[in-house]
Amino acid sequence: MAPDTLDRIRSTIRDVPDFPKPGILFKDITPVLAAPELIAASIDGMIEATGITHVDKVVGIDARGFIFGALIAERLRAGFVPVRKKGKLPWQTRGVDYALEYGTNSVEMHLDAIAPGETVLLADDLLATGGTAAAALHLISEAGGKVVGSTFFIELSFLKGRDKLAGHGPVHALLTY
Ligand code: AMP
Repeated sequence: MAPDTLDRIRSTIRDVPDFPKPGILFKDITPVLAAPELIAASIDGMIEATGITHVDKVVGIDARGFIFGALIAERLRAGFVPVRKKGKLPWQTRGVDYALEYGTNSVEMHLDAIAPGETVLLADDLLATGGTAAAALHLISEAGGKVVGSTFFIELSFLKGRDKLAGHGPVHALLTY
């Protein structure tokens, strides 16, 4: 990607202090989504970073990961699989609990979403502590999927989330803070 395009994407992300709670600097990606040429370049960049030209399934994580994951899946002519917060998927699921800073969270995936041996790329908007992505990777591995890597729009590298994703292929991010 041309450096000036990456600069434009970076400067279009809106930093919102103290959302959703005090002390969090929220990376609001909606201005990038709303700019036709920037969302297209972002999806291209997230795919290019992986070096992948074919994969069977792209898994996107609830909720902003659905946007990036589905666009990547369409571009790669892959299937799209949602990993959702507990209780949202209508069919039979496998689930996993994971620790948050305070308390726990649960995510689920449909039992028949990934067949054993299928290649899978994980996509999400933002890698923070890595707990959510690690939970999704756990579900993919349990289903017998072969994870070829993960691609994020943003990585908050100071939170060291990628350490939690070790052993699940390369981790890529378009923008690093
Ligand atoms: P984590 O499990 O800590 O890696 O958190 C990842 C999820 O939380 C991502 O899917 C993001 O949507 C969201 N998230 C965490 N921190 C931020 C932030 N500073 N700005 C925007 N979204 C965030």
